[in-house]
Amino acid sequence: MRLVLLGAPGSGKGTQAQKLVQKYRIPQVSTGDLLRDAVARKTALGLEAKAAMDAGKLVADTIVLAMIRERLARPDAARGFILDGFPRNVAQADALGTLLSKMGKPLDSVVLMDIDTKVLFKRLTGRRTCRRCARVFNIYTNPPGKKPDCEGGRTHDLFQRPDDNEETISHRLEVYEAQTRPLVAYYRRRRLLKVIDATGELDDVFARLERAIPGTDAAKSGKRAAPARRRRPAKRPGKGNTMAGKTVKKTVRKAVRMEKKAAKSIRKTTRSAAKSVKRATTKLGKALRRAVKPTVADRATAPLRAAGKSAKRAVKRTASKARKATRPSAAKRAKRTVKKSVRKVRR
Ligand SMILES: [Zn+2]
Repeated sequence: MRLVLLGAPGSGKGTQAQKLVQKYRIPQVSTGDLLRDAVARKTALGLEAKAAMDAGKLVADTIVLAMIRERLARPDAARGFILDGFPRNVAQADALGTLLSKMGKPLDSVVLMDIDTKVLFKRLTGRRTCRRCARVFNIYTNPPGKKPDCEGGRTHDLFQRPDDNEETISHRLEVYEAQTRPLVAYYRRRRLLKVIDATGELDDVFARLERAIPGTDAAKSGKRAAPARRRRPAKRPGKGNTMAGKTVKKTVRKAVRMEKKAAKSIRKTTRSAAKSVKRATTKLGKALRRAVKPTVADRATAPLRAAGKSAKRAVKRTASKARKATRPSAAKRAKRTVKKSVRKVRR
């Protein structure tokens, strides 16, 4: 089990790492601890690190990597290790990858303990310590209760530590986000990333964690962890992105998508229907026109026939005019009749 655990402050990363250490007997290698230890023991690397820190500089990655190499070479890391506090950026992740593959100990998974920012915020801002007995409570998740059970049967004298105020916590979460996002993308590309839901009971989260780690009994028993989904890391606090809010948003987005899809398909159907109607009409029109279309001869003679008709009409008109013109008028006819009668009478 060679593991990097990623998780925001308050995600329970430390607690879960401890559970893994106990169950699988592998060391948790914290670069912070390594540094402090090396400085205290005044090793060569420790002295170098101290010089940098005294000068107000960051300890160079090469020093930290050398410490990691030394630590992982010890026998207790033969079965595996959990790295804590390193890598914090992509350059460190790259350097770590090179070191581990040289040592023949490449990482087999990187687990992101995913938790909603709102939940984190509550966990972190709700933390209260008792001035008297030093017990740590959480006004949201682990309140001290009504029964006074502090020393001398008194109620606890709770106070909020200065770095648990909202502003400091917001800043810590922002720093974590900014650091972790590129690492998440980095390990996702290398198919090492597993994302587990870090909300809920400690033991449930641990069960999820075990299923996500290759080589554990839980992973082997066929209950495979869901593959790392493309999931946006939790957003900045204070934006109201609760789990329920997220679910609602998701549902709404889905509904909108479906509606758009339906509308599109309706438009498509309508368009295609209109097209097919148009096509049919055109076809029918063509057929009709073809059916009633005059023959070429007909078309060629049409003007002639028209001319013929009008000529006939003209002839008829002329003839009738001629007849009218040549017909004697009624008066003339009457005169003629009178003359005839007179002639008859004379005879
Ligand atoms: Zn107390």
